Amino acid sequence: MDYRKNQQVTVKIEDIGINGEGIGRISGYTLFVKDAIVGDLVEASLTKVKKTYAYARLVRVIEPSKDRITPPCKIYRQCGGCQIQALSYAAQLAFKQQKVMNDLIRIGGISKEELKEIMEPIVGMSDADQSGDAGFRYRNKAQYPIGRNRDGKLIAGFYAGRTHAIMETDDCLLGPGENGEILKSVLTHMERYQIMPYDEESGTGLVRHVMIRKGFASGQIMVCLVINGRSLPESEILVENLKEIDGVCSIYLNVQQEKTNVILGEENILLWGSAWIEDMIHICDVNNGFAPTREALTYAISPLSFYQVNPKQTERMYSQALQYADLKGTETVWDLYCGIGTISLFMAKRARSVMGVEVVEQAVEDARENAARNCIENAAFLTGKAEEILPAYYAEPAGEFTHPDVIVVDPPRKGCDSKCLETMAHMKPSKIIYVSCDPATLARDVKYLSENGYRLTKARAFDNFPQTVHVETVCLLTKK
Ligand code: SAH
Repeated sequence: MDYRKNQQVTVKIEDIGINGEGIGRISGYTLFVKDAIVGDLVEASLTKVKKTYAYARLVRVIEPSKDRITPPCKIYRQCGGCQIQALSYAAQLAFKQQKVMNDLIRIGGISKEELKEIMEPIVGMSDADQSGDAGFRYRNKAQYPIGRNRDGKLIAGFYAGRTHAIMETDDCLLGPGENGEILKSVLTHMERYQIMPYDEESGTGLVRHVMIRKGFASGQIMVCLVINGRSLPESEILVENLKEIDGVCSIYLNVQQEKTNVILGEENILLWGSAWIEDMIHICDVNNGFAPTREALTYAISPLSFYQVNPKQTERMYSQALQYADLKGTETVWDLYCGIGTISLFMAKRARSVMGVEVVEQAVEDARENAARNCIENAAFLTGKAEEILPAYYAEPAGEFTHPDVIVVDPPRKGCDSKCLETMAHMKPSKIIYVSCDPATLARDVKYLSENGYRLTKARAFDNFPQTVHVETVCLLTKK
Protein backbone atom coordinates (compact mmCIF):
# COMPACT_ATOMS: atom_id res chain seq x y z
CA MET A 1 0.00 0.00 0.00
CA ASP A 2 1.14 3.53 -0.68
CA TYR A 3 1.23 5.95 2.19
CA ARG A 4 1.16 9.70 2.01
CA LYS A 5 1.73 12.61 4.30
CA ASN A 6 -1.08 13.49 6.74
CA GLN A 7 -2.71 10.11 6.19
CA GLN A 8 -4.29 8.73 9.37
CA VAL A 9 -3.62 5.16 10.34
CA THR A 10 -4.47 2.87 13.24
CA VAL A 11 -1.50 1.00 14.62
CA LYS A 12 -0.54 -1.14 17.59
CA ILE A 13 2.72 0.00 19.22
CA GLU A 14 5.07 -2.92 19.76
CA ASP A 15 8.43 -1.41 20.49
CA ILE A 16 10.18 1.69 21.76
CA GLY A 17 12.80 3.52 19.71
CA ILE A 18 16.06 5.01 20.98
CA ASN A 19 14.46 8.42 21.27
CA GLY A 20 11.49 7.13 23.22
CA GLU A 21 9.10 7.07 20.27
CA GLY A 22 6.64 4.21 19.81
CA ILE A 23 7.29 1.78 16.98
CA GLY A 24 4.49 -0.07 15.21
CA ARG A 25 4.15 -2.01 11.98
CA ILE A 26 1.46 -2.37 9.36
CA SER A 27 2.21 -5.33 7.05
CA GLY A 28 5.96 -4.85 7.31
CA TYR A 29 5.84 -1.05 6.98
CA THR A 30 7.35 0.62 10.06
CA LEU A 31 5.91 3.63 11.82
CA PHE A 32 7.74 5.76 14.37
CA VAL A 33 5.08 7.45 16.45
CA LYS A 34 6.21 10.19 18.80
CA ASP A 35 4.48 10.13 22.22
CA ALA A 36 3.02 6.65 21.69
CA ILE A 37 3.88 3.91 24.16
CA VAL A 38 4.52 0.19 23.82
CA GLY A 39 1.15 -1.53 24.14
CA ASP A 40 -0.93 1.45 22.98
CA LEU A 41 -3.34 1.11 20.10
CA VAL A 42 -3.23 4.54 18.50
CA GLU A 43 -4.47 6.65 15.69
CA ALA A 44 -1.51 8.42 14.13
CA SER A 45 -1.01 10.91 11.36
CA LEU A 46 1.97 10.47 9.04
CA THR A 47 4.37 13.40 9.08
CA LYS A 48 7.23 12.13 6.92
CA VAL A 49 6.83 9.23 4.53
CA LYS A 50 9.70 7.06 3.28
CA LYS A 51 9.80 3.85 1.27
CA THR A 52 9.90 1.37 4.14
CA TYR A 53 9.04 3.56 7.11
CA ALA A 54 7.33 6.74 8.19
CA TYR A 55 7.33 9.18 11.08
CA ALA A 56 3.99 9.94 12.61
CA ARG A 57 2.31 12.13 15.16
CA LEU A 58 0.02 10.75 17.82
CA VAL A 59 -3.56 11.83 17.15
CA ARG A 60 -5.46 9.76 19.68
CA VAL A 61 -4.88 6.82 21.97
CA ILE A 62 -7.58 4.29 21.16
CA GLU A 63 -6.62 1.72 23.79
CA PRO A 64 -3.95 2.74 26.30
CA SER A 65 -1.01 0.53 27.17
CA LYS A 66 -0.91 -0.91 30.70
CA ASP A 67 2.29 1.13 31.14
CA ARG A 68 0.69 4.43 30.19
CA ILE A 69 0.23 6.98 32.96
CA THR A 70 -1.10 10.53 32.96
CA PRO A 71 1.97 12.75 32.70
CA PRO A 72 2.00 15.37 35.46
CA CYS A 73 3.51 18.08 33.25
CA LYS A 74 1.02 19.96 31.11
CA ILE A 75 3.41 20.87 28.31
CA TYR A 76 5.37 17.67 28.15
CA ARG A 77 4.42 16.84 24.56
CA GLN A 78 5.29 20.23 23.09
CA CYS A 79 8.41 20.66 25.20
CA GLY A 80 10.00 17.35 24.30
CA GLY A 81 12.50 17.46 27.15
CA CYS A 82 10.81 14.51 28.86
CA GLN A 83 10.32 12.04 26.05
CA ILE A 84 8.88 9.24 28.18
CA GLN A 85 6.94 10.98 30.93
CA ALA A 86 3.78 9.07 29.94
CA LEU A 87 5.53 5.77 30.63
CA SER A 88 5.26 4.30 34.14
CA TYR A 89 8.52 4.53 36.07
CA ALA A 90 8.97 0.76 36.22
CA ALA A 91 8.60 0.59 32.44
CA GLN A 92 11.09 3.45 32.01
CA LEU A 93 13.67 1.48 33.97
CA ALA A 94 13.02 -1.70 32.01
CA PHE A 95 13.43 0.25 28.77
CA LYS A 96 16.78 1.71 29.84
CA GLN A 97 18.13 -1.60 31.07
CA GLN A 98 17.21 -3.11 27.71
CA LYS A 99 18.71 -0.22 25.77
CA VAL A 100 22.10 -0.65 27.45
CA MET A 101 22.00 -4.42 26.99
CA ASN A 102 21.06 -4.17 23.32
CA ASP A 103 23.93 -1.82 22.58
CA LEU A 104 26.46 -3.96 24.43
CA ILE A 105 25.29 -6.95 22.43
CA ARG A 106 24.86 -5.37 19.01
CA ILE A 107 27.65 -2.80 19.01
CA GLY A 108 29.87 -4.14 21.78
CA GLY A 109 29.94 -7.70 20.51
CA ILE A 110 29.20 -9.18 23.95
CA SER A 111 27.18 -12.39 23.76
CA LYS A 112 23.72 -12.52 25.30
CA GLU A 113 24.70 -15.32 27.67
CA GLU A 114 27.83 -13.51 28.81
CA LEU A 115 25.94 -10.28 29.35
CA LYS A 116 23.43 -12.01 31.60
CA GLU A 117 26.28 -12.79 33.99
CA ILE A 118 27.82 -9.33 33.73
CA MET A 119 24.85 -7.00 33.85
CA GLU A 120 23.52 -5.95 37.25
CA PRO A 121 20.00 -4.56 37.75
CA ILE A 122 19.49 -0.90 36.87
CA VAL A 123 19.54 1.55 39.78
CA GLY A 124 16.48 3.76 39.62
CA MET A 125 15.27 6.62 41.77
CA SER A 126 12.13 5.14 43.23
CA ASP A 127 13.54 2.68 45.76
CA ALA A 128 15.24 4.82 48.36
CA ASP A 129 13.35 8.02 47.70
CA GLN A 130 10.51 8.48 50.15
CA SER A 131 9.39 11.87 48.93
CA GLY A 132 6.62 10.48 46.76
CA ASP A 133 7.69 12.26 43.63
CA ALA A 134 10.58 10.02 42.79
CA GLY A 135 11.82 10.73 39.33
CA PHE A 136 10.87 14.43 39.50
CA ARG A 137 12.58 17.51 40.97
CA TYR A 138 15.93 15.81 40.62
CA ARG A 139 17.75 18.24 38.34
CA ASN A 140 20.04 20.74 40.02
CA LYS A 141 20.58 22.83 36.91
CA ALA A 142 18.29 24.49 34.39
CA GLN A 143 18.85 26.93 31.55
CA TYR A 144 15.79 28.87 30.50
CA PRO A 145 15.75 30.90 27.30
CA ILE A 146 14.09 34.30 27.60
CA GLY A 147 11.97 35.69 24.78
CA ARG A 148 8.53 36.81 23.78
CA ASN A 149 5.40 34.87 22.96
CA ARG A 150 3.16 35.65 19.98
CA ASP A 151 1.42 38.42 21.88
CA GLY A 152 4.72 40.07 22.63
CA LYS A 153 4.65 39.14 26.31
CA LEU A 154 8.02 38.48 27.96
CA ILE A 155 8.39 34.80 28.77
CA ALA A 156 10.84 32.24 30.06
CA GLY A 157 10.57 28.61 29.11
CA PHE A 158 12.15 25.91 27.03
CA TYR A 159 12.65 25.49 23.34
CA ALA A 160 9.87 23.30 22.01
CA GLY A 161 11.40 20.04 20.72
CA ARG A 162 14.00 20.73 18.03
CA THR A 163 12.79 24.26 17.35
CA HIS A 164 13.71 27.67 18.65
CA ALA A 165 10.20 28.64 19.67
CA ILE A 166 10.03 29.16 23.42
CA MET A 167 7.38 27.20 25.30
CA GLU A 168 6.41 29.22 28.32
CA THR A 169 6.80 27.46 31.65
CA ASP A 170 7.10 28.79 35.14
CA ASP A 171 7.76 25.43 36.72
CA CYS A 172 9.64 22.56 35.15
CA LEU A 173 8.87 19.48 37.24
CA LEU A 174 12.40 18.15 36.86
CA GLY A 175 13.93 21.10 38.68
CA PRO A 176 13.45 22.63 42.14
CA GLY A 177 10.44 24.81 42.89
CA GLU A 178 12.56 27.94 43.43
CA ASN A 179 13.28 28.20 39.71
CA GLY A 180 9.83 29.64 39.04
CA GLU A 181 10.26 32.37 41.63
CA ILE A 182 13.64 33.34 40.22
CA LEU A 183 12.33 33.56 36.66
CA LYS A 184 9.42 35.67 37.78
CA SER A 185 11.77 38.07 39.50
CA VAL A 186 13.95 38.38 36.38
CA LEU A 187 11.00 38.90 34.04
CA THR A 188 9.45 41.51 36.34
CA HIS A 189 12.74 43.38 36.41
CA MET A 190 13.03 43.27 32.64
CA GLU A 191 9.51 44.60 32.23
CA ARG A 192 9.97 47.38 34.74
CA TYR A 193 13.18 48.67 33.17
CA GLN A 194 12.26 47.79 29.61
CA ILE A 195 15.15 45.43 29.13
CA MET A 196 14.87 43.58 25.85
CA PRO A 197 15.15 39.85 25.51
CA TYR A 198 17.69 38.64 22.99
CA ASP A 199 16.39 37.99 19.50
CA GLU A 200 18.17 35.14 17.79
CA GLU A 201 17.34 36.23 14.26
CA SER A 202 18.60 39.79 14.47
CA GLY A 203 21.17 39.28 17.21
CA THR A 204 19.75 42.26 19.10
CA GLY A 205 18.35 42.53 22.62
CA LEU A 206 20.09 41.80 25.89
CA VAL A 207 18.92 38.88 28.03
CA ARG A 208 19.43 35.46 26.44
CA HIS A 209 19.13 32.83 29.14
CA VAL A 210 18.79 32.41 32.86
CA MET A 211 20.81 29.57 34.25
CA ILE A 212 19.99 28.35 37.74
CA ARG A 213 21.88 25.82 39.78
CA LYS A 214 21.13 24.50 43.22
CA GLY A 215 23.29 22.51 45.58
CA PHE A 216 20.69 20.10 46.91
CA ALA A 217 22.68 19.19 50.00
CA SER A 218 23.62 22.79 50.86
CA GLY A 219 20.45 24.51 49.65
CA GLN A 220 22.65 27.12 47.92
CA ILE A 221 21.44 28.58 44.64
CA MET A 222 23.38 30.29 41.87
CA VAL A 223 21.58 32.50 39.38
CA CYS A 224 23.39 33.38 36.19
CA LEU A 225 21.94 35.79 33.61
CA VAL A 226 23.40 35.19 30.19
CA ILE A 227 23.46 38.47 28.37
CA ASN A 228 24.40 39.92 25.01
CA GLY A 229 26.40 42.69 26.64
CA ARG A 230 28.48 43.44 29.69
CA SER A 231 26.03 45.04 32.06
CA LEU A 232 22.40 44.87 33.06
CA PRO A 233 20.38 48.04 33.73
CA GLU A 234 19.57 48.58 37.42
CA SER A 235 21.23 45.31 38.31
CA GLU A 236 21.51 46.32 42.01
CA ILE A 237 17.73 46.30 42.21
CA LEU A 238 17.46 42.86 40.65
CA VAL A 239 20.11 41.62 43.08
CA GLU A 240 18.08 42.98 45.99
CA ASN A 241 15.02 41.08 44.79
CA LEU A 242 16.78 37.83 44.02
CA LYS A 243 18.53 37.86 47.40
CA GLU A 244 15.12 37.58 49.03
CA ILE A 245 14.59 34.14 47.52
CA ASP A 246 15.55 31.40 49.92
CA GLY A 247 18.91 29.88 49.06
CA VAL A 248 20.10 32.40 46.48
CA CYS A 249 23.70 33.17 47.42
CA SER A 250 25.48 33.79 44.15
CA ILE A 251 24.41 36.01 41.25
CA TYR A 252 26.35 36.28 38.02
CA LEU A 253 26.23 37.85 34.62
CA ASN A 254 27.61 35.66 31.88
CA VAL A 255 28.71 37.49 28.74
CA GLN A 256 27.68 35.83 25.49
CA GLN A 257 27.87 38.19 22.53
CA GLU A 258 28.33 35.64 19.79
CA LYS A 259 25.57 34.64 17.39
CA THR A 260 25.53 31.01 18.42
CA ASN A 261 23.50 28.20 19.96
CA VAL A 262 26.12 27.82 22.68
CA ILE A 263 24.37 29.06 25.77
CA LEU A 264 27.21 30.30 27.95
CA GLY A 265 29.99 32.66 26.99
CA GLU A 266 33.43 32.49 28.55
CA GLU A 267 33.35 35.56 30.75
CA ASN A 268 31.52 35.69 34.06
CA ILE A 269 30.93 38.81 36.09
CA LEU A 270 30.01 38.24 39.71
CA LEU A 271 27.21 40.65 40.60
CA TRP A 272 26.76 39.60 44.16
CA GLY A 273 27.55 36.87 46.68
CA SER A 274 29.93 33.98 46.55
CA ALA A 275 31.87 32.97 43.48
CA TRP A 276 30.58 29.40 43.70
CA ILE A 277 27.98 27.26 45.37
CA GLU A 278 28.66 24.13 47.34
CA ASP A 279 27.26 20.67 47.18
CA MET A 280 27.94 17.50 49.09
CA ILE A 281 28.07 13.96 47.79
CA HIS A 282 28.10 10.94 50.07
CA ILE A 283 29.87 7.68 49.53
CA CYS A 284 27.05 5.11 49.50
CA ASP A 285 27.04 1.52 50.66
CA VAL A 286 26.50 -0.37 47.42
CA ASN A 287 25.72 -3.58 49.27
CA ASN A 288 23.11 -1.93 51.42
CA GLY A 289 20.74 -0.46 48.88
CA PHE A 290 23.11 2.46 48.22
CA ALA A 291 22.44 3.93 51.66
CA PRO A 292 24.59 7.05 52.12
CA THR A 293 27.44 6.53 54.61
CA ARG A 294 28.81 9.26 56.82
CA GLU A 295 31.76 9.71 54.49
CA ALA A 296 31.15 12.62 52.13
CA LEU A 297 32.90 15.09 49.88
CA THR A 298 32.02 18.69 49.31
CA TYR A 299 32.34 20.37 45.95
CA ALA A 300 32.46 23.98 44.86
CA ILE A 301 30.70 24.61 41.58
CA SER A 302 31.28 27.71 39.47
CA PRO A 303 29.17 28.85 36.50
CA LEU A 304 31.13 27.17 33.74
CA SER A 305 32.06 23.89 35.34
CA PHE A 306 30.40 20.65 34.53
CA TYR A 307 28.56 19.10 37.42
CA GLN A 308 26.31 16.06 37.32
CA VAL A 309 22.68 17.19 37.18
CA ASN A 310 21.25 14.51 39.45
CA PRO A 311 23.27 14.48 42.67
CA LYS A 312 21.28 11.68 44.34
CA GLN A 313 21.95 9.24 41.53
CA THR A 314 25.47 10.55 41.05
CA GLU A 315 26.54 9.52 44.52
CA ARG A 316 25.20 6.05 43.88
CA MET A 317 26.90 5.84 40.52
CA TYR A 318 30.26 7.01 41.84
CA SER A 319 29.98 4.65 44.78
CA GLN A 320 29.49 1.85 42.30
CA ALA A 321 32.58 2.98 40.39
CA LEU A 322 34.49 3.00 43.67
CA GLN A 323 33.31 -0.48 44.51
CA TYR A 324 34.33 -1.77 41.07
CA ALA A 325 37.78 -0.22 41.57
CA ASP A 326 38.12 -2.15 44.83
CA LEU A 327 41.06 -0.02 45.94
CA LYS A 328 43.38 -1.12 48.77
CA GLY A 329 45.31 2.10 49.27
CA THR A 330 48.37 1.31 47.18
CA GLU A 331 47.00 2.12 43.74
CA THR A 332 47.71 4.81 41.19
CA VAL A 333 44.60 5.96 39.35
CA TRP A 334 43.96 8.12 36.29
CA ASP A 335 40.60 9.88 36.16
CA LEU A 336 40.13 11.02 32.58
CA TYR A 337 37.44 13.63 31.71
CA CYS A 338 37.41 14.46 35.40
CA GLY A 339 35.39 17.71 35.36
CA ILE A 340 35.68 19.31 38.78
CA GLY A 341 37.28 16.17 40.18
CA THR A 342 34.13 14.56 41.41
CA ILE A 343 35.22 10.98 40.77
CA SER A 344 38.91 11.74 41.33
CA LEU A 345 38.28 12.72 44.93
CA PHE A 346 36.15 9.63 45.56
CA MET A 347 39.03 7.52 44.30
CA ALA A 348 41.64 9.53 46.19
CA LYS A 349 39.97 8.55 49.45
CA ARG A 350 40.95 4.93 48.81
CA ALA A 351 43.97 5.06 46.48
CA ARG A 352 47.61 6.05 46.87
CA SER A 353 47.44 8.75 44.24
CA VAL A 354 45.09 10.03 41.58
CA MET A 355 45.71 12.09 38.45
CA GLY A 356 42.73 13.83 36.87
CA VAL A 357 42.62 15.16 33.31
CA GLU A 358 40.13 17.72 32.09
CA VAL A 359 39.98 20.06 29.12
CA VAL A 360 38.08 22.98 30.72
CA GLU A 361 40.57 25.06 32.64
CA GLN A 362 38.11 26.48 35.12
CA ALA A 363 36.92 22.98 35.99
CA VAL A 364 40.53 22.00 36.71
CA GLU A 365 40.88 25.01 39.00
CA ASP A 366 37.72 23.91 40.76
CA ALA A 367 39.04 20.37 41.01
CA ARG A 368 42.20 21.61 42.78
CA GLU A 369 40.13 23.82 45.04
CA ASN A 370 37.86 20.85 45.80
CA ALA A 371 40.80 18.64 46.71
CA ALA A 372 42.04 21.29 49.14
CA ARG A 373 38.59 21.85 50.56
CA ASN A 374 38.34 18.14 51.37
CA CYS A 375 41.93 17.99 52.69
CA ILE A 376 42.88 15.57 49.93
CA GLU A 377 46.57 15.74 49.14
CA ASN A 378 47.00 12.74 46.87
CA ALA A 379 45.10 14.06 43.86
CA ALA A 380 46.64 16.18 41.11
CA PHE A 381 45.08 17.54 37.92
CA LEU A 382 46.25 18.28 34.41
CA THR A 383 44.53 20.59 31.95
CA GLY A 384 44.15 19.36 28.40
CA LYS A 385 42.58 16.77 26.17
CA ALA A 386 42.73 13.22 27.44
CA GLU A 387 43.79 12.03 23.97
CA GLU A 388 46.78 14.40 24.08
CA ILE A 389 47.80 14.35 27.73
CA LEU A 390 47.75 10.59 28.13
CA PRO A 391 49.93 9.71 25.09
CA ALA A 392 52.35 12.52 25.98
CA TYR A 393 52.68 11.21 29.51
CA TYR A 394 53.16 7.68 28.26
CA ALA A 395 55.92 8.78 25.86
CA GLU A 396 57.95 10.32 28.68
CA PRO A 397 60.44 8.40 30.84
CA ALA A 398 58.58 6.24 33.28
CA GLY A 399 56.65 8.18 35.89
CA GLU A 400 54.37 6.96 38.61
CA PHE A 401 51.36 6.99 36.29
CA THR A 402 52.91 5.27 33.26
CA HIS A 403 51.53 1.96 34.37
CA PRO A 404 48.60 2.82 36.61
CA ASP A 405 46.53 0.26 38.46
CA VAL A 406 43.22 1.78 37.47
CA ILE A 407 42.00 4.13 34.74
CA VAL A 408 38.59 5.73 35.13
CA VAL A 409 37.00 7.46 32.14
CA ASP A 410 33.81 9.52 32.06
CA PRO A 411 33.72 11.04 28.57
CA PRO A 412 30.98 13.17 27.00
CA ARG A 413 28.46 11.49 24.68
CA LYS A 414 30.83 10.98 21.81
CA GLY A 415 32.87 8.58 23.94
CA CYS A 416 36.67 8.24 24.12
CA ASP A 417 38.96 9.34 21.35
CA SER A 418 40.71 6.36 19.71
CA LYS A 419 44.13 7.77 20.60
CA CYS A 420 43.07 7.83 24.22
CA LEU A 421 41.79 4.23 24.15
CA GLU A 422 44.96 3.08 22.44
CA THR A 423 47.17 4.60 25.12
CA MET A 424 44.97 3.20 27.86
CA ALA A 425 45.50 -0.29 26.46
CA HIS A 426 49.28 0.31 26.28
CA MET A 427 49.40 1.42 29.88
CA LYS A 428 47.95 -1.93 30.91
CA PRO A 429 46.07 -1.00 34.07
CA SER A 430 44.56 -4.02 35.76
CA LYS A 431 41.18 -2.30 35.73
CA ILE A 432 39.40 0.19 33.55
CA ILE A 433 36.21 1.76 34.86
CA TYR A 434 34.09 3.30 32.17
CA VAL A 435 31.36 5.73 33.23
CA SER A 436 29.21 6.56 30.25
CA CYS A 437 26.27 8.77 29.35
CA ASP A 438 25.73 7.14 25.97
CA PRO A 439 25.41 3.37 25.72
CA ALA A 440 26.14 3.32 21.98
CA THR A 441 29.58 4.93 22.22
CA LEU A 442 30.25 2.98 25.41
CA ALA A 443 29.59 -0.24 23.52
CA ARG A 444 31.86 0.87 20.67
CA ASP A 445 34.69 1.58 23.11
CA VAL A 446 34.08 -1.66 25.03
CA LYS A 447 34.48 -3.49 21.74
CA TYR A 448 37.87 -1.86 21.15
CA LEU A 449 39.05 -2.64 24.67
CA SER A 450 37.79 -6.24 24.39
CA GLU A 451 39.95 -6.65 21.31
CA ASN A 452 42.91 -5.08 23.05
CA GLY A 453 43.43 -7.02 26.22
CA TYR A 454 40.37 -6.31 28.36
CA ARG A 455 37.27 -8.20 29.36
CA LEU A 456 33.98 -6.64 30.37
CA THR A 457 33.31 -8.08 33.81
CA LYS A 458 30.56 -5.92 35.30
CA ALA A 459 28.07 -3.40 34.01
CA ARG A 460 25.30 -1.48 35.69
CA ALA A 461 22.92 1.14 34.39
CA PHE A 462 21.86 4.14 36.48
CA ASP A 463 18.76 6.18 35.87
CA ASN A 464 20.14 9.66 36.38
CA PHE A 465 17.60 11.24 34.05
CA PRO A 466 14.10 9.98 34.82
CA GLN A 467 11.37 10.91 32.28
CA THR A 468 13.97 11.20 29.53
CA VAL A 469 15.49 8.51 27.32
CA HIS A 470 18.98 9.12 28.68
CA VAL A 471 20.79 6.56 30.78
CA GLU A 472 24.19 6.32 32.48
CA THR A 473 26.23 3.15 32.72
CA VAL A 474 29.19 2.11 34.82
CA CYS A 475 31.35 -0.73 33.49
CA LEU A 476 34.27 -2.62 34.93
CA LEU A 477 36.79 -3.97 32.45
CA THR A 478 39.62 -6.16 33.73
CA LYS A 479 42.92 -7.06 32.09
CA LYS A 480 42.79 -10.52 30.50
N1 SAH B 1 33.72 13.00 35.70
C1 SAH B 1 33.14 14.30 35.80
C2 SAH B 1 32.84 14.97 34.44
C3 SAH B 1 32.18 14.13 33.40
S1 SAH B 1 31.54 15.02 32.01
C4 SAH B 1 31.91 14.25 36.62
O1 SAH B 1 31.31 13.21 36.77
O2 SAH B 1 31.51 15.29 37.14
C5 SAH B 1 32.80 14.98 30.86
C6 SAH B 1 33.90 15.97 31.08
O3 SAH B 1 34.86 15.77 30.05
C7 SAH B 1 33.49 17.43 31.00
O4 SAH B 1 33.95 18.08 32.15
C8 SAH B 1 34.22 17.96 29.74
O5 SAH B 1 34.66 19.28 29.90
C9 SAH B 1 35.39 17.02 29.67
N2 SAH B 1 35.98 16.80 28.33
C10 SAH B 1 35.37 16.80 27.13
N3 SAH B 1 36.22 16.43 26.17
C11 SAH B 1 37.41 16.18 26.77
C12 SAH B 1 38.68 15.72 26.30
N4 SAH B 1 38.89 15.48 25.01
N5 SAH B 1 39.66 15.54 27.21
C13 SAH B 1 39.44 15.78 28.53
N6 SAH B 1 38.27 16.21 29.02
C14 SAH B 1 37.26 16.40 28.16
